[in-house]
Amino acid sequence: MKTGIIGGGLGGLAAACTLAARGHDVVLFEKNDWLGGKAAVLEQGGYRFDMGPTILTMPRVLERIFAEAGRELHRELDLRRLDPQWRCFYDDGTVLDLRDDPKRAAEEIGRLSPEDRAGFERFMAVASRLSDVSDRFFFWKSVEDLRDTMDLKANMSLATLKDVMALRMHRTVAGQIKRDVKDGRVAQMLEHFIQYVGSSPLASPAVLCGIAQMQQGEGVWYPMGGTRAVPLALARLAESLGVEVRTGTGVERIEVEAGRARAIITDSGERVACDRVVSNMDSVRTYAELVGGAEGRAFARTRKREAACSGVVLYLGLDRAYEHLAHHNFVFSRDPEEEFGAIYDHGEPAPDPTAYIAAPARTEPGVAPDGGEALYVLVHTPYLRSHHDWSRMLPHYREVILDKLGRAAGMEDIRSRIQVERALTPQDIHERYKVLNGAIYGLASHGKVMGAFKPGNRSRQVEGLYLAGGSAHPGPGMPMALMSGWIAADTLDTDARGAGDVARERADVAAE
Ligand SMILES: Cc1cc2nc3c(=O)[nH]c(=O)nc-3n(C[C@H](O)[C@H](O)[C@H](O)COP(=O)(O)OP(=O)(O)OC[C@H]3O[C@@H](n4cnc5c(N)ncnc54)[C@H](O)[C@@H]3O)c2cc1C
Repeated sequence: MKTGIIGGGLGGLAAACTLAARGHDVVLFEKNDWLGGKAAVLEQGGYRFDMGPTILTMPRVLERIFAEAGRELHRELDLRRLDPQWRCFYDDGTVLDLRDDPKRAAEEIGRLSPEDRAGFERFMAVASRLSDVSDRFFFWKSVEDLRDTMDLKANMSLATLKDVMALRMHRTVAGQIKRDVKDGRVAQMLEHFIQYVGSSPLASPAVLCGIAQMQQGEGVWYPMGGTRAVPLALARLAESLGVEVRTGTGVERIEVEAGRARAIITDSGERVACDRVVSNMDSVRTYAELVGGAEGRAFARTRKREAACSGVVLYLGLDRAYEHLAHHNFVFSRDPEEEFGAIYDHGEPAPDPTAYIAAPARTEPGVAPDGGEALYVLVHTPYLRSHHDWSRMLPHYREVILDKLGRAAGMEDIRSRIQVERALTPQDIHERYKVLNGAIYGLASHGKVMGAFKPGNRSRQVEGLYLAGGSAHPGPGMPMALMSGWIAADTLDTDARGAGDVARERADVAAE
C-alpha cells in the first residue's frame, strides 16, 4: 500500500509522519527545495528571520504527532512559553499587554478599563465553552459540514442541544466581543484572535472565539531556533520513519480512474502509482488543477469558496534593539472598521493598517548580531485581485508601514537603523506556496453558520484522496494545519484498515 503526499508544508509533513509511524509506505513530493512550506527561514548578514508563522499555539497537536512514533516532543524541541503573549500599541499612546493567563490578562485589562475586567472574564468563559465544544465535535476527525460534527438525530438530548446553542450560530465574532467588552481598545485586541484565520471579525462565526481560549489557556510558545525548528523536527522524524522525500518535484496531476485516485504525475511526466493520495496543496487548486474532470467540477459546485487574506512582510535587520518591544507585538490601526472594510470588503490595502511585529531577539538573542534586532513586520492585505501589482504597490506601502511604526510604536529612527531588508508580498506568497490568490490562511471563514467549515479531509468526490493543510478542515494556522495532516492520515489509515479487512474477508470467502 503506497501513499503519495503532495506538498511538504506542515500539513503534509504531519500526515507523512503519522502514516509512516503507523506502518504505511509513504512518498512525499515537494515542489520547492525545502520542507515546511510557509514555515521557511531567511538568513542574511548575521540576521535570521522566520519567514512565515511566528506564533506557535496548542503544542499538544505536535505532541500527538510525535507520540504516534513513540517520541516525546519536548525532547525534540526546546519550547519556551512567552509572557506577555502579545504587547499591543494603540494610536492614542496606550500600551496593553495580553498576559499569559486569563486571570492576569483580566487584571491588566481592568487597569485600562475597569468595567471590562468582568467583560473579558465573560468573554473568556464563552471562549472556553466554545473551545471545549470544538474539541469534542470539530477537532481530530474529518468534518465538512454540520452533519459530520454531531449526529443530531441519534444524539438529540438536552446536553447536545446545549452544545448546539453554545455555538451561537446567529452571531459573529465581533458581535460576541461587542456584547462582552465596552472599551474599543480591548475589543480591537480581542478581534485580532480571528486574524489567525485571516478573516474579518465582522463576518466570521462566533464559534471562532474559541481561538482565544486555545491561546490564553494553552499558551504562546517559541521553539528555540525559531518556528522553522518545527518543520525541521518533523522532517527528521519523517526521515527516521522511512518516508521517501522528493523535494524539487512538483505534482501536475492526480490520475483518477473510475472515481478513484490511482497515481501521481510529476512535473517531469513521471507516473507514480499510489493506492492513496494526500494533497497538502490548496484544496480548491487541488480539485481545479490536479483532479479536474467531473470530480473537479463536482467539488466546485459544492460551495463558493473565497480566499482568506494575504499579507506583506518586511524582514528588517537593525543595528539597534527596541527593548520596549515584547517578543510578539501589535501596532493597531486607527480604526478597525476602516481597516477590515478595506481588506475584506473593498479588496484594497488598509490606509492605516495594523502591523504585527515579531522581535524574537527578546527570547533568542542569537537571531541578530549583538545589540541588533531581527524585526519581522506583517501587515494583512486583501487576497490578490487582478489589478494588484505588488511590484508597483510595495514601495508605497513600505512607507505607510514604516510611518506607522514610527508614529505609534516608538520607532521613529527605524529607517536609519536598517542594515538588511527583504520583503514578501502577496504575489510572492502566491508563487512560492501555490496557494489560492496569495492567501496566507487558506479559505476565508466568513458566514455565521458555515464559516468555520472547510473542505473535509476525506474527499467526497474522489475515493482514495485526502486533504491536509490550511485550506482543509479544521483550517489554517500552525496547530490547525498540523491537525489537518494528522486527521487526513488517521482517516486514510482507518479506511485502509477497513479496506484491508474487506479484502481479507473476500479472500477468506473465496478460499472457502
Ligand atoms: C507571513 C505568514 C505569517 C503567518 N503567521 C502565522 C502565525 O504566526 N501563527 C500561525 O499559527 N500561523 C501563521 N501563518 C499560517 C501558517 O503558516 C499556515 O497556516 C501553515 O503553515 C500552512 O501549512 P500548510 O500545511 O497548509 O502548508 P503550506 O505551508 O501552504 O505548504 C504547502 C506546500 O505544498 C507545496 N505544493 C503545493 N502544490 C504543490 C504541487 N502541485 N506539487 C508539489 N508541491 C506542492 C508548496 O510548495 C508548499 O511547500 C502564517 C503564514 C504566513 C505566510
